[in-house]
Amino acid sequence: MIIIKKEHPKADSVFDDIRRRYAHYDAIKEKSDRDKIKVILLEEQRHICAYCMKRIKMTDSTTEHYIPGRSISDKHSLEYKNLLAVCSGELGNQKPFTRTCDKSKVNKLLVCNPTVADDMSKIYYSRSGRIYSENDVYSDDLDVTLNLNCTQLIRNRKSTISVLESELLGIREYCDDGDYVDYMRNVLYEYKLDLLYKPYIGAIIWFLEKMIEEYK
Ligand SMILES: [Zn+2]
Repeated sequence: MIIIKKEHPKADSVFDDIRRRYAHYDAIKEKSDRDKIKVILLEEQRHICAYCMKRIKMTDSTTEHYIPGRSISDKHSLEYKNLLAVCSGELGNQKPFTRTCDKSKVNKLLVCNPTVADDMSKIYYSRSGRIYSENDVYSDDLDVTLNLNCTQLIRNRKSTISVLESELLGIREYCDDGDYVDYMRNVLYEYKLDLLYKPYIGAIIWFLEKMIEEYK
């Protein structure tokens, strides 16, 4: 997970218009209206799932209520800050698929919120590809409610970190420590600016910040 800033410049006008015409999210019958919401969510999340950080597109993502529809009033089902774009939540090539993200969460409530910076500062990664927190309640959200430490996601994050590590090692022999830190800071800066985040960007940022700390 990575912080999602709910400050898309078009959000106010799009949501005002949708709320004027529909009483709640499930009442939105026009696909084009649902798509207007999803475009905003995808752009502000830079096309990665709010929970597992897989790449998502218009066609393979869904709009998720952070606080589930069952727990909120109709009006709040169209609350911009409560809406996130997520992946299909199904991993694997054949049934039964491994369920993650909102498919694993269903109607359960999360405590750890990707739109809250303080919550995201308590999320860590390991070189082995695990996502974890030292807070037990957040750990439960990650491990159980969202199933973010299933075998496939651990493997994907581990592989992302390994590829980055190999790229950095290729540069390392040509730099002294100072140049190496500057290089990694630039790489980190570029990743953070990207309008299309690299999948598993949270693990990438964690790894680069750790390496910069080690060498500076
Ligand atoms: Zn996901």
